[in-house]
Formats: sequence, structure tokens, C-alpha cells
Amino acid sequence: MSELNELYQQVILEHNKTPRNFRKLELFTHDADGYNPLCGDHYHVWLKLDGDTIADIGFQGNGCAISKSSASMMTSSVKGRTVAEAKELFEQFHSVIMTKIGDPVSEERIEALGSLGALAGVREFPARIKCASLAWHALNAALTNNQSTISTESAKD
Ligand code: ZN
Repeated sequence: MSELNELYQQVILEHNKTPRNFRKLELFTHDADGYNPLCGDHYHVWLKLDGDTIADIGFQGNGCAISKSSASMMTSSVKGRTVAEAKELFEQFHSVIMTKIGDPVSEERIEALGSLGALAGVREFPARIKCASLAWHALNAALTNNQSTISTESAKD
């Protein structure tokens, strides 16, 4: 188990050092700001929907290693998926990291998360759960509120 934790830790550190999709989108249909005052994590998430598919996604901002690696993994996990698939993935991820300490989480459930499974261990550190879920909440907010639209997609309605 400690070897697995070490591997997961390396995945988190690697995503923190070289975050994926760490850029502002020039053309986007949805965006939102995510802020976690408990830790000071602050990110902006942009995405471009093509019909129901997340055609592109990017983020920028600052925060702790958990929040940044989680945002990196979130963007690479949902890119190319439909909105429904992304929400389903968030529910799976959220249910794993919200599982109480001491309650078992099966390897299957963690493996089903792909790279996000590396963050399953944060459930043992309740203060960090918000760091791990911040980017996902920003994604949800972007999809729900459609806060600002500056692209060609805005003609749709
Ligand atoms: Zn944090």
C-alpha cells in the first residue's frame, strides 16, 4: 500500500509541476472562477462546448499542489467527453474522496477514475478535500451559470 501511495504521490507532484491544459482558451463558451478561501486556491476554468461535448478546456491560477494537480487531472479527464460523462465522473470522484476515513474504497472504484485515482488518498485529510474538488466545482459552475460568453458560440442562445 505504501508503494501505491508513493506512486500516487509522484503522479500528483508531476501534474503540479507540469499541469495539463494550463492555459486560457481564446475561444470558449463557458467559464467560471473557483476559489477555496480555506487554502487560498484560486483558479479560472474555461471550456468550449461543441454541441454536448467538451471540445476544449483550460485553466489558470494558483494554489497548492493538490488543487493544481486535481485541476490538471480534471481537465485532461473531461476533455473530449460529453457533459453528462464529465458529471458522472465527478460524482464517482466526489463519492470516493468523500468516503469516510476507515470505510473501505475498492481498488476497482479507484482504478475506474484513471489518473484521478491518485487523489483518492485525500479523503484521509479532510482539510484537503476542498482543494481536490475545487476545479470540479468551477467546472460545474461554468456549465451551470454560463457566466460569460465571448465566442462565436454565443449566437446560439
Ligand atoms: Zn489547497
